[in-house]
Amino acid sequence: MNDLMEKVVALCKRRGFIYPGSEIYGGLSNSWDFGPLGVELKNNIKEAWWKRFVQNREDIVGLDAALIMNPKVWEASGHVANFTDPLKECKKCHGRFRADHLKDETCPSCGAKDSFTEEKVFNLMFKTFIGPAEESANVAYFRPETAQAIFVDFKNILDTMRVRVPFGIAQVGKAFRNEITPGNFLFRVREFEQMEIEYFFTPPKADNDWAKEFDKWVSEVHSWIKDDLGLDPKKVSEYEVPDSDRAHYSKKTIDFMFDFPFGKEELYGLAYRGDFDLKSHQESSGQNLKYRDPKTGEEFLPHVIEPSFGVDRSVLEVLLDSYFEEDGKIKLRIKPSLAPIKVAVFPLLSNKPDLVNLARKIYLDLRKIYMVVLDERGNIGGRYAAQDEIGTPFCVTVDFQSLEDVMVTVRDRDTGRQERVKIDELKNFIQEKLNGNRNRT
Ligand code: ATP
Repeated sequence: MNDLMEKVVALCKRRGFIYPGSEIYGGLSNSWDFGPLGVELKNNIKEAWWKRFVQNREDIVGLDAALIMNPKVWEASGHVANFTDPLKECKKCHGRFRADHLKDETCPSCGAKDSFTEEKVFNLMFKTFIGPAEESANVAYFRPETAQAIFVDFKNILDTMRVRVPFGIAQVGKAFRNEITPGNFLFRVREFEQMEIEYFFTPPKADNDWAKEFDKWVSEVHSWIKDDLGLDPKKVSEYEVPDSDRAHYSKKTIDFMFDFPFGKEELYGLAYRGDFDLKSHQESSGQNLKYRDPKTGEEFLPHVIEPSFGVDRSVLEVLLDSYFEEDGKIKLRIKPSLAPIKVAVFPLLSNKPDLVNLARKIYLDLRKIYMVVLDERGNIGGRYAAQDEIGTPFCVTVDFQSLEDVMVTVRDRDTGRQERVKIDELKNFIQEKLNGNRNRT
């Protein structure tokens, strides 16, 4: 593993962000559990996404569908037949690899040459059985993406909500893929979360019509990465998936690539899917999934653009991009609004009840709004360092002067600057700073 990745993985374990899954039983390879700080970071990312794409838009509504769906969904969507990866096995060490990820005929595990089996196709969906009988009639799948539920509930949303084309449906939730070669920490796992939107619009009359919609979504994705995640835009690039690798129904697919320590890899995807999904579900279910234009009365199957965001990859890139070392000390310069803990409150000395009581009062007041911690242990320098490591943007210290002037010292994580702030102005002060971006200098 690369140096930066190793450091981030170690920090995540040590400070309660992410633990190896099932660790007391020797672990389960490539599964990870989000600890108390990791779950805060992950929830903050999901919340920011929902706020941007659902709450702040008039044209997108939300959905939270069942994870296990009627298996006919996955037949209609093409997943039963086509959601496969090519697999090769090394006859010597029995390592299994994705054939399209192998550089040549050398086994990446044991170094054996020309030892691979013939390529086999391997379906990535996890199978299970509904009810007690393990029979083929009862087979069901853990969803491999959240998107299909959006098409399946499309008619319900048309019938119950006042949506007018163009409009979108958004969903955040777990997806499962039995990946042949998971790895690189959270980058490729078998159980992950997605944030997906299907954005429906009138069937285009010319290429220019869908291209305009597509370009709007390209800017939206970039803006999410820069403004909401606060990431360095220089680390993000676009890769247009060539015709040969693209699904036949898609006219254009762009992968948003991020400079991970293990190379430029896909962070998010954006695809123009035409009316493929609605058409397949209409044919398979026998239900009319057409939209009726309220002005003209015209009926049609809308076309769709799908931006797809991985939650776990978002968490990983935020951690990687935020990790800094300064004079041998770690600082996580996470965008303040995403930080797991927003404020740490310290009484200058732990054995002075007046200071401790005032600090506790401030802590109890602030925690109604944010995740806040109260820390009385050790010296102030050590407490600052402990908060820097987990990315807490503000540390508030109550000292003897606070008892006189009703002010506290607020120290900024990124600049180290300390300011005296009136206690009753503290909430406004913090809120204003939380709305801003992180300081990179
Ligand atoms: P890849 O080619 O890397 O297998 P994909 O093109 O199949 O990925 P999509 O089906 O486009 O991926 O999935 C949409 C998004 O879901 C991805 O951009 C990524 O953020 C996330 N994602 C997909 N697979 C995984 C996984 N195994 N682990 C974590 N996140 C994933």
